[in-house]
Amino acid sequence: MVRESEIRAGEVAVEKPLAKDAGLVFIGRIRTPWTSRLKTPRQGRHDGPVCRLEIFDPWKPALKGLDLYSNLEVIYWLHLSRRDLVLQSPKNDGTTRGTFSLRSPVRPNPLGTSMVKLVGIEGSTVLVRGLDCLDETPLLDVKPDRCEFTPLAPPQDGDFETG
Ligand code: SAM
Repeated sequence: MVRESEIRAGEVAVEKPLAKDAGLVFIGRIRTPWTSRLKTPRQGRHDGPVCRLEIFDPWKPALKGLDLYSNLEVIYWLHLSRRDLVLQSPKNDGTTRGTFSLRSPVRPNPLGTSMVKLVGIEGSTVLVRGLDCLDETPLLDVKPDRCEFTPLAPPQDGDFETG
């Protein structure tokens, strides 16, 4: 069940430390059809609506070569999430699970990731299908899907020894 910001039966919030490092920059803004968390899909679908990644200056040149890939990983900041829950009740039925065992948007660093299909690139806007975030969600990064990379060389004996 989708939440706004309420605490549910059995859930536990903590006093969270002040954020003071990492220093992320938003490289763009995501435009989607969804303006309510209650109506936003829990996970994106590749047959979902076309959404737009609007890339801010000065990052537009960073899109060069992206059109070589059909599957992208999009990383975004679920900016309206609360960040202080350690135990959560996804079904709002009093049973709880730890935050790190969930893909809930409620987490200390509310990163969201989606594997999306590239539909096209128009100037500084990337069109994709497969997102699940609110309109105006801040964009952190775009990468080709790692499966589209061929390893440079097959692993050799000893490559994974930890000594
Ligand atoms: N696919 C991502 C992941 O697995 O990391 C996000 C999954 S999360 C379950 C998706 C939900 O987060 C949506 O259904 C919506 O309720 C909520 N959400 C979407 N955009 C948000 C935002 N900008 N701030 C807070 N919550 C958001």
